[in-house]
Order: sequence, then structure tokens, then C-alpha cells
Amino acid sequence: MEKKITESKQKKELLFSKSEHAAVRIDEKQKAESDAFARDYMAFLNAAKTERKAVKMSVAALEEKGFVPYSPDMTLKAGDKIYVNNRGKAVIAAVIGTTPVTEGVRLCAAHIDSPRLDLKQNPLYEDYELAMLKTHYYGGIKKYQWTAIPLSLHGVVILSDGSSVEVNIGEDAGDPVFCVTDLLPHLAPAQMKRPASEIIRGEELNILVGSMPFNKDEESEQVKLNILNFLYEKYGMTETDFLSAELEAVPAFPVSEVGFDRSMIGGYGHDDRVCAYPALRAILDCENPIHTAVTILTDKEETGSDGNTGLCSSYLQYFLEDLAECFGAKGRHVMHASQCLSADVNAAFDPTFPDVMEQKNCAYLNHGVCVTKFTGARGKSGTSDASAEFVGTIRRLLDADHVVWQTGELGKVDCGGGGTVAAYIANLDIDTIDIGVPVLSMHAPFEVVSKLDVYMAYRAFCAFIAS
Ligand code: MN
Ligand code: MN
Repeated sequence: MEKKITESKQKKELLFSKSEHAAVRIDEKQKAESDAFARDYMAFLNAAKTERKAVKMSVAALEEKGFVPYSPDMTLKAGDKIYVNNRGKAVIAAVIGTTPVTEGVRLCAAHIDSPRLDLKQNPLYEDYELAMLKTHYYGGIKKYQWTAIPLSLHGVVILSDGSSVEVNIGEDAGDPVFCVTDLLPHLAPAQMKRPASEIIRGEELNILVGSMPFNKDEESEQVKLNILNFLYEKYGMTETDFLSAELEAVPAFPVSEVGFDRSMIGGYGHDDRVCAYPALRAILDCENPIHTAVTILTDKEETGSDGNTGLCSSYLQYFLEDLAECFGAKGRHVMHASQCLSADVNAAFDPTFPDVMEQKNCAYLNHGVCVTKFTGARGKSGTSDASAEFVGTIRRLLDADHVVWQTGELGKVDCGGGGTVAAYIANLDIDTIDIGVPVLSMHAPFEVVSKLDVYMAYRAFCAFIAS
């Protein structure tokens, strides 16, 4: 009898697949590395709350490591480090490999835009002696989550003379913040009967920015005037200059460790800086790769990847074609031989909301970086669906480097769904698979990830670009 149990136990070890907590798979040294990586990531997240800031920080880090701006007439050789800054909103970095570029590149792609509230082009108004800013939300949000929290304001204003002014207010100690107000519960019975998607409507996401009059003159709109006067004195802008501005309101609170055990990180913008930062770090740490390593941090994923800084545009394709031409090769031959990790977050299983997940095929916090063969919705619509062969390649690669990883779909079949940039990259004839960090409360102002999963994402990107 005893022998039989042992035999089945052995067979189970051999035959069953197993996903487990990363903590049981790592040693003390890796735990320390994971904690150190989390500290660096938290600093990045605090400082890079918008796509423009993420690019600025990435470019500074790349230049410090010897990356130089790329131009198509450059002569390139193995070991060279280059980058392209696409309009201050997206960046491509590359380290030239030792094998011919026709053997393909190792591409990591993540996005650096996150859901937020964008100001409208004519945003400022006064209503009952309060100054407010009209917004149009960016990306998929639960609008009610964006009320009654401190907001900071970031972006640029192009003045009438063409000069550019940077706005950055609400992050530093002593800065004022802004907020969208909500109705008190005492007077909200009617509001609470609205469907959840309308508890706060799009046109109710108005940001409170002032309440004092300019002076004691009997003029109308004194509070609005006071705000405009402040903006004029600080930034040299007038109301018309809002027309040529991009101003983004994001949560003003800093990122924090979460839990008594400090095992998690909570903050704004994990989606998708939690993949972008590890991908950036992987290429910063990359020396003399075999295949040319390319990391792209892109914009506009949250609104469908359209526009010249999003991955539906041709800027990645043009870069790869130019790179190919540097070596007398054809872009399409390079792309055909290339491999891509489309690095974006996945939904983590939430025990409070188990019903949306099929529990044999979803990602769990702390079970490592999540590899997702396909995304999409309603019968795999809108996905590139990586081939079994390519999944096999990535699986062997991660296992060989002892990266803790899991696999998971975004929710139950027909329960919703979502896409990533994977399909747009795969459409360039590049083998592409989704991989990323599981997130709790995705797209909320305060998202949560596990430190070990972030570290495993970094390890996965390092293993991939070294292959
Ligand atoms: Mn994302
Ligand atoms: Mn997203």
C-alpha cells in the first residue's frame, strides 16, 4: 500500500503541471535582488507618471549607459547602442548583436501611457465661484474611481510664439493638488440608482482648481480670472494657449509598499510601466548580445494604439527597415526572423471576485511573470495567438534560466477580454507572444502588483535578449 502511494506521487511529479508561489522557488540572494529591483522600480513609477516623463527618464538612463541617438546614415557594428526618441512620447533602444541582423532581433515591447483624465482643449470655467477644468478621460476607466482623490497635473503647453512650457504640479512636497468632487451620501440616493457606469458620468469628471476671486472689483468670473492670472504669471500662458496644450491629470499620491509583509507594490500606472521598466532595465544591462536587442516603449496603447506614437503606426517597422539597410539587408527579412515579447500586464486572480476567472487558466499574484498565448475577446477576436512552436521556444528559454512563470488568460471565455500591442507587432511578420506582470485593480488609480512578479519579468526579458 505504502509503495503504491509513493509510485503515484512520483508519477504525479512527472506528469502533472504545477504552478506555485515564487517564494518557494527562489533563494535568499534572489529575494534580495527582487527587493532591490522593487525599490528602483518604485522610484521610476513615482517620477514617470506620464508617457512624456517616462520617455525623458528612459532617454536619460540610456544616454548614461552610452546609448546615442540613431540616424539612418550611421555605420553600426556589434555592441553599438542606439536609441530613437519618437516625439517625446515613445522610445526605441537597441544594442547591435554579434550575429547578422538577418537572423532577426529580440524585441521587447511595452507601453508607457496609462489611463488618466486629459484636459479638454477649452477646459477652464467658473461655476458658482468655483474654478473647474473639463476633462475627457483617456483609456478604459471606472469613472467613479477617479473622484475624491488627489490629482496632479502634467504636460506641455505650446504658447502662441511656438515655445513650449512644461507643467508639473501636485507631486512635490508643498505643491497643491486638484480633485474631482463627488456627492455626499446623504444626498446621493438618486445618484446611487444610476448604473455603475454612470454613477459619475464623463461630463461630471470636472477638476476643482480654485475658489478665490482675482480682486474686489465688481467683475464677473473673478475666480476664473484669478486662475488665468496665476497661469499667466507662472507659465506665460493665456486661455487660448489651452488649445495647443496636452495636460494630463493623474493620481497625486506616491507609490507604496502594500501589506504587513511589504510583498506588494501599490500605485498609479503599473499598467504598463511594470513591464516597461523591467524591459528598459534589461536593455540597459545588456552588453554584446548575440541577436540585436531592441526595446520599444510605446504610447497610445490604452486608446487602441493609433496615432504616430502608437504601435498601429509604422514607426517600429521603419526603424527595423532602416536598421536592416545599415547592414545591406531587407527589413522584411529581418522582421521575419525576429522574435518579440509583447510585455503588458495581465489580470491577477482576485479572491473577492473569483467569478470572472476560470481558475485553471488565470494568473495568480506571486506565481511569476505571466505568459499569455492569446488575448482578445469573443472567440479570440483581435489576437495574434502565438504558435505552439514559439510558446515552446519561450518556455524552454524561461525554464533554462529558472525564471518563475505561469500562464493565464484575461478572464473567463465571453466574460469580457482585452488586447495588447502583440497583434500589431505579429502583423509585421514577427513571432510574438504576450508576457507580463499580473495586476490587481488594473486601471484603477491605485493598482497592485507583487515584487517577485516584477523581478521575474525583468529576469525573463534579460533571458530573452541574451538568447
Ligand atoms: Mn497594458
Ligand atoms: Mn491597460
